[in-house]
Amino acid sequence: MAQPHVVVLGAGPAGLGGAYRLRTLDRARVTVLERNASVGGNAGSFEWGGHTLDFGSHRLHPACDPDILADIRRLLGDDLLTRPRHGRIRLRGRWIHFPLLPVDLFLRLDRRFAFGAARDMLLPRRASSDGPPSFASVLRQSLGPTVCDAFYFPYARKIWGRDPSELSAVQAKKRVSANSFGKLVRKVMKMVPGFGSPMSGKFLYPRGGFGQISSVLADEAMAAGADLRLGSTVVSARAPQGPDDPWQVVTRQNGEESVLHADQVWSTIPLTVLTRIVEGAQAEPPRAAADAMRFRAMLLVYVALDVDRFTPFDAHYLPEEGVRITRLSEPKNYAARSEPAGRTVLCAELPCSTDDPWWTMEPAELGQLVAEDLRRSGIPLPHEPREVLVRRLPQAYPIYLDGYEAHFDALDRWIETLPRFLSYGRQGLFAHDNTHHALAMAYGAADCMGDDGFDHERWAEYRRAFESHVVED
Ligand SMILES: Cc1cc2nc3c(=O)[nH]c(=O)nc-3n(C[C@H](O)[C@H](O)[C@H](O)COP(=O)(O)OP(=O)(O)OC[C@H]3O[C@@H](n4cnc5c(N)ncnc54)[C@H](O)[C@@H]3O)c2cc1C
Repeated sequence: MAQPHVVVLGAGPAGLGGAYRLRTLDRARVTVLERNASVGGNAGSFEWGGHTLDFGSHRLHPACDPDILADIRRLLGDDLLTRPRHGRIRLRGRWIHFPLLPVDLFLRLDRRFAFGAARDMLLPRRASSDGPPSFASVLRQSLGPTVCDAFYFPYARKIWGRDPSELSAVQAKKRVSANSFGKLVRKVMKMVPGFGSPMSGKFLYPRGGFGQISSVLADEAMAAGADLRLGSTVVSARAPQGPDDPWQVVTRQNGEESVLHADQVWSTIPLTVLTRIVEGAQAEPPRAAADAMRFRAMLLVYVALDVDRFTPFDAHYLPEEGVRITRLSEPKNYAARSEPAGRTVLCAELPCSTDDPWWTMEPAELGQLVAEDLRRSGIPLPHEPREVLVRRLPQAYPIYLDGYEAHFDALDRWIETLPRFLSYGRQGLFAHDNTHHALAMAYGAADCMGDDGFDHERWAEYRRAFESHVVED
């Protein structure tokens, strides 16, 4: 019997992981359609002036499923480096190590903050009785006002562009891994030698940039027979009208449209886009629900400097109000690169909305904005930026606005009515997930693919398991 033809939309980790598994398990013929000229999506890498750069700070977290990690290790070999985490957070004008170290909590924390947090930890708090729980009420109840007001709330305002009270309680559950004092203490204790696992305080990083994970998955999938089409934007997908009908996926490449027939479509592109590109669906697409769901955009401002290294830190986390960027990373420090000598690049993350004036600002102006924020944070640039490059991510983070669940459910139910169609990945499930989570979804999807077609009951079990994903920073 001929194998089904699965057309995968998007060549980020989710799409490539799916293609890799389907081909290496020999479960389907696979074509992957990607609008960009390279693979990896938000988890890709690119070259600039002799530097390998990621789209913001990216690291592979040791929490990755062991089977998936074993595949990544096998594919990357010696190129998968184990690196110590060496970041810091700016808190009330002081730097403390991130991940938090016990010694820093005693010696470096601002006294008022330390006493306030200790008092909050000891004092019992009652759940707020005004209205349904939100990001703000959940964290305020579990962590108290000191940690929330100094760190989580200003950070949340910058990252998602909303007041914490407007965000769903789900955002606190999924996005804040230390969302109680118990978890916070456990995290800190793991950093004490002998208390954590051998990987505590460490991360994994490919020598060739984070995007190397996606590149090796793409290479392996192609070696196993997958057809990867870069520069192919999916413009529409016509649903089958009968059981033997194929999906008709229309792509645009170099201004020319072509149609591809598929037995199944696996989509990893933003689920909100599906209501506009899917045609001939039996059920009316819930466009209002899609319009009500919001992604936060992000500007990545890369600043080239003529110094060997700016600082020894991999990332600086900047929650403070009055500083617009949220994180500054130095890509050379992720893979301990010494080349190019005498030059480094900094990557500043500036969350925003696509209708903010920042979104269309010239690189030189954004370079000045970053320089000003770094001056305010006490780490001024050693000289004017030699060059500035800007990359724009329109869909960096899903925003879990209070009540978003109803809109997501409406979309999810509609997608379920589409025959032989799957939506997964960070964009496809509106999940604020890490790369290892996106890969877990891809592996799960391929596991559901049997000789009798796609096992939807098994997929429903996987979906329940994905609910437990918590983002690692
Ligand atoms: C600033 C930042 C920092 C992060 N840091 C980390 C980290 O440290 N560790 C970690 O594990 N994760 C991190 N992540 C998350 C990580 O980037 C994602 O988990 C990962 O990219 C999700 O993969 P995906 O394939 O689901 O989605 P994506 O990477 O978004 O891939 C979707 C793909 O679909 C393509 N596409 C969209 N529309 C179309 C269309 N119409 N036609 C064809 N193709 C289309 C896109 O071009 C893209 O390639 C970070 C994310 C951001 C934004």
